[in-house]
Amino acid sequence: MIQLYIPLGFLGVLYREIKQSLTDLDKMFRLMDREREVDDVPGAPDLQVREGVVRFESVDFGYEAARPILRGLSFEIPAGRKVAVVGPSGAGKSTLARLLFRFYDVDAGRITIDGQDIRQVSQASLRRAIGIVPQDTVLFNDTIEYNIAYGRPGASREEVVAAAQAAHIHDFISATPKGYDTMVGERGLKLSGGEKQRVAIARTLLKNPPILIFDEATSALDSANERAIQAELQSAARNKTALVIAHRLSTVVDAHEILVMEAGRIVERGTHAQLLAQGGAYARMWALQQSGQE
Ligand code: ATP
Repeated sequence: MIQLYIPLGFLGVLYREIKQSLTDLDKMFRLMDREREVDDVPGAPDLQVREGVVRFESVDFGYEAARPILRGLSFEIPAGRKVAVVGPSGAGKSTLARLLFRFYDVDAGRITIDGQDIRQVSQASLRRAIGIVPQDTVLFNDTIEYNIAYGRPGASREEVVAAAQAAHIHDFISATPKGYDTMVGERGLKLSGGEKQRVAIARTLLKNPPILIFDEATSALDSANERAIQAELQSAARNKTALVIAHRLSTVVDAHEILVMEAGRIVERGTHAQLLAQGGAYARMWALQQSGQE
């Protein structure tokens, strides 16, 4: 079983300070290539994304049989809309992303994209259809160009530069000694959390998938950086079906639906206005984060 533990600070007092982060899905994916838990059914056809409607239907899931994590979870992300998931650490938010990317199969229920059960289509086609901006991007020990083009192998330099410009990382790259040929990663130029996230956004823009998963960083970016990244994510998500795992409620205000999760269940759901009017857990989180920002 692969576990990634990344210590992360956090804003709200509702949340524990140190949390497991699932979220380097890219890295997980590479690890999973070696140790797959799911297989293609023989002759699995490719996923056909027509509109990009994502549905979780009565999903049960546990990493271990003795410990259920998600119970009877149902929601739909309509084509081109954004559904946000909030809730305390350990509620199961990142698990949703892992299941949509099919790192694991559900124990009961099903997940569909445009009506196709994701267990019945080829994993390669599923993963081509989904772009992930993880919390903490691990860069390859290679050039910055390679790291961006990883979103779409074979992309031209012009396409890489256009994606970098859209993700507002081009000026930073141009200022490095070798520009797009600069080596990054453990053995190269070290990038800040915000810069790495921009590389992940550029990668995703280049990949241009119909479905996006954003796992918002919990680590503190300065607020100007954070606002800029949110704006870049917004533009990346335009007209795409998006699942957003949010830690800052300001990110979710415009979501089609907000799911408030606790202990693997959806305890509240609705738009920002509906949830505020309801005066429950979401409204309390909102009040806390607002007072924290003052
Ligand atoms: P956070 O906000 O801290 O990222 P989360 O809501 O995303 O939390 P998940 O990462 O989905 O929570 O975890 C849900 C539960 O599943 C937690 O109790 C966690 O300990 C457990 N869990 C996560 N990954 C594994 C794993 N690989 N093996 C066993 N249990 C796991």
